[in-house]
Amino acid sequence: MSKELREAALNATKNCHAPYSKAYIGAAILTTDGEIISGCNVENASYPGCICAEQVAIVKAISEGKRNWSSIYVYSKAGWPPCGVCRQVMSEFAPKSLKIIIGDDGGNEKELTLGELLPHSFTPEEYSKN
Ligand code: ZN
Repeated sequence: MSKELREAALNATKNCHAPYSKAYIGAAILTTDGEIISGCNVENASYPGCICAEQVAIVKAISEGKRNWSSIYVYSKAGWPPCGVCRQVMSEFAPKSLKIIIGDDGGNEKELTLGELLPHSFTPEEYSKN
């Protein structure tokens, strides 16, 4: 399944809108029912309007009612890990056990959990302590 996820993330880069960074990022979420939902980075001339590939995939999944995920594949040429904002967005919807696979153009892959990428995260549960 990792191969299919990588393929979906790579395919998503074909639709990137990255005229400023020239960084083509693709993300693919594997839902627990076996569906793959992908996304690409969408940049904007006004930088705060830029949206990471991971967030595009997450918003697509949520908007389609697909809230249970087993893993997310993140592809970039250099194998960049998800940025801090993406890690926080993931933590809103996924458990710390979510598997995150980071792949590069050489086929190298690194597998981490969300808990490893974002320890001590601020989650929706924090509000119950208020
Ligand atoms: Zn990001």
